[in-house]
Amino acid sequence: MDNNCKRCLLFEAGQNVTYNQIQDYIKTIDASEKVNDEVYSHRLSMCKKCDNLISGMCLKCGCYVEVRAILKNKNCPNFDDKKW
Ligand code: SF4
Repeated sequence: MDNNCKRCLLFEAGQNVTYNQIQDYIKTIDASEKVNDEVYSHRLSMCKKCDNLISGMCLKCGCYVEVRAILKNKNCPNFDDKKW
């Protein structure tokens, strides 16, 4: 699959090593710091429609969105057009 997959999450971009590392990291985050599944899915769905998403990374902040979106204390970093 394309290494620079526009509007792809890591899960879809075929970058399995990075994806697995991200999932392992997410597992270490305390549940109290995470949004629920519904909010997480909504956030990721917004990222998937966004031109700033490249191969799972947000061009506005350099974060992997699968990590940023799960954190309660984070929001979409695009100040001109916040998606979540
Ligand atoms: S700008 Fe916001 S919606 Fe777009 S990829 Fe980044 S976090 Fe997701």
